[in-house]
Amino acid sequence: MAKVGVYVCYCGTNIAGVIDIETVRAFAETLPEVSVARKDLFMCSDSGQELIKQDIREGLVDRVVVAACTPRTHEPIFRAAVQSAGLNKYLFEMANIRDQDSWVHPDNPEEATNKAMRLLASAVGKASRLKPLEEKYVDVTPAAMVIGGGVSGISSALELANMGYTTYLVEKDPSIGGIMAQLDKTFPTNDCSACILTPLMVDVANHPNIKLMTYSEVEDVEGFIGNFTVKVRRKQSYVDWKKCTGCGDCATSCPVRVPNEFNHGMDQRPSIYIHFPQAVPKKAVLDVESCINCAGHKLGREPKISKKTGNPMIAPCQKVCPADAIDRSQQLDPQGSIEEVKVGSIVVATGFQVMDKKWFKEMAPDSPNVITALQLERLISATGPTGGKLYMPSTANKVPETITFVSCMGSRDEKFHTYCSRVCCMYMVKQARLLKEKYPDLNIYMHFIDVRAAGKEYDEYYTGARKMGINILKGKVGGLEVLPEDRLRVLAYDMEGCVPVEYQSDLVVLATAIEIPETAKKLAHATGLQFCGSHFYRELHPKLGPVETSVEGLFLAGCCQGPKDIPDSVSQAKGAAATAAVPLAQGKVKIEPIISEVHTEKCSGCGICVPLCPYDAITMKMVDDHPRAEIDMTACKGCGVCTTACPSAAIVLHGYEEEQIYAQIEALTV
Ligand code: FAD
Ligand code: SF4
Ligand code: SF4
Repeated sequence: MAKVGVYVCYCGTNIAGVIDIETVRAFAETLPEVSVARKDLFMCSDSGQELIKQDIREGLVDRVVVAACTPRTHEPIFRAAVQSAGLNKYLFEMANIRDQDSWVHPDNPEEATNKAMRLLASAVGKASRLKPLEEKYVDVTPAAMVIGGGVSGISSALELANMGYTTYLVEKDPSIGGIMAQLDKTFPTNDCSACILTPLMVDVANHPNIKLMTYSEVEDVEGFIGNFTVKVRRKQSYVDWKKCTGCGDCATSCPVRVPNEFNHGMDQRPSIYIHFPQAVPKKAVLDVESCINCAGHKLGREPKISKKTGNPMIAPCQKVCPADAIDRSQQLDPQGSIEEVKVGSIVVATGFQVMDKKWFKEMAPDSPNVITALQLERLISATGPTGGKLYMPSTANKVPETITFVSCMGSRDEKFHTYCSRVCCMYMVKQARLLKEKYPDLNIYMHFIDVRAAGKEYDEYYTGARKMGINILKGKVGGLEVLPEDRLRVLAYDMEGCVPVEYQSDLVVLATAIEIPETAKKLAHATGLQFCGSHFYRELHPKLGPVETSVEGLFLAGCCQGPKDIPDSVSQAKGAAATAAVPLAQGKVKIEPIISEVHTEKCSGCGICVPLCPYDAITMKMVDDHPRAEIDMTACKGCGVCTTACPSAAIVLHGYEEEQIYAQIEALTV
């Protein structure tokens, strides 16, 4: 008979505050398979783990059960302890008496103690039937991919490339840079965003280990940590980037004007365009949707021959290109082409979008003089549509006399997002300070619920704004009324003075919430990433695994994991790169042995399991002239779907075998 050692943890007062630990320990001693039963204040501490190791070394136990917090964080710790004492680490089972017991039954200690005993008996039932499992290792592809080319993706890519790994940087837009490339200056130092970002963008372009894949999106990710195959869709640009010099002549020749995404609709761009003047790579792309096929020169067709001149009627963009880089006769393929890339680890850094003003009906969203904070960044930026001059969008060349900032538009709001977007208070202070420096006579009102300035030197930055004569009011803005000549009446409340406030403003800036981009769901589907309650990508553990995810080999950086400022985004990006480099440096990765295996002699060859496997791990092979299922151990994730579906009970999921599960159930139901 197995000799099971049981170790019950107090977890400080987390468990012991509700459950009677000594009663549970004494109960364990009554179970026939149990050879020793001990307790400790913190089983995961060095002294706690030593109890287990000593019993193994002395031959008192050959199976281990720890009744404690949660396997999610602590199973690897205890398995490692078991292994270090010389016992196979898969001869270990955990009873979750904190998350599934003391924390959910805080008001019923007696029932919680009874439940702890049942959970423990169940774990002992399974543990006594566990079999040793063997880990296998496979080689790693020594390359990485970073998805998203904002400041986070750029930082991760440079770190990985500097460590010597080939790094593919995939960006959906024609250029890298992300939101930071659209900012004017950055808090709390007011240094110019382009001045600190552009050199990094150029480093990316020049780095021998970075393969830049802009105007591209990840379509599918197959494989596992160390061996991913990523399908990248390269969008069709109609411009041969090897030839394009970025001169912009094509853009100048194009008669079409559509809203410019880079300037958030504050000006217009042609159909063929360069993303922004400092773009990396600085290459033209053709927007198929808005192109009007000038001179009847349709995309995907050779130009028509003019009846008058006998010459081909070539569209102006193609005609003017001095580098002969544009070929409109290419087959129209809006889907683009697929390129397959093999990498060992992946960092996801796909960032955020800001909420549109249209959601805030009370804030006169149709008025041109109501804009988002990101639109204001473009208006005051030297590279923006007005060359950095603040004009009222309704009236070209008219500088506003009064400007109003409204915080928390869609953040900390039950109707939209309950979370705080974390950067809005600070960027509003920044924008107000920059404007006051440039236009000292400007009346500036800022309306906050409260100011959140929790960062290094942030509070000093905010206090400085008060000293500059900026009116900072605590309280919400109830709404805006549109007045003649597109002026706006602000209806607000001043909580400190306990009075309603009403005044006229020329320009209103809404600090709209940061949220996950619309494309995030598609990427989650392709990669297996999950979302958390606030709809950002979920990290493995909020404290201990902030860059890891539940998909091994996939890491998170920057605002796709939650709202952040630039310093925090860059810190996380560098952390993600370092963690993503670990499997690459190791050269080999472990294949978890808790996976399924087919007992060929029992397999009837029905093939039911094949389409059910969500990881395409099962194929039919001919064995002695009969079709038999075979499972690829590198693709199997141990979900167990096939084991439950097999009518011949031919598939075994190691670590969850039939007799082990029945023993668990039996112990729970007596
Ligand atoms: P992003 O900048 O959003 O970059 C993500 C990149 O991923 C983008 O290039 C995007 O196109 C790309 N992408 C998205 N989906 C995909 C996909 N599926 N495939 C491929 N690529 C994809 N912070 C400061 O510290 N100081 C400031 O002064 C400051 N001012 C701000 C002002 C405003 C108005 C706002 C809204 C934010 C401000 N911030 C500031 C915050 C700062 O913008 C962010 O911290 C920073 O941009 C986060 O970088 P990121 O790389 O995580 O995300
Ligand atoms: Fe590139 Fe030709 Fe356009 Fe110049 S004209 S930006 S070389 S495609
Ligand atoms: Fe612009 Fe060329 Fe299309 Fe004409 S054909 S709209 S110039 S991109």
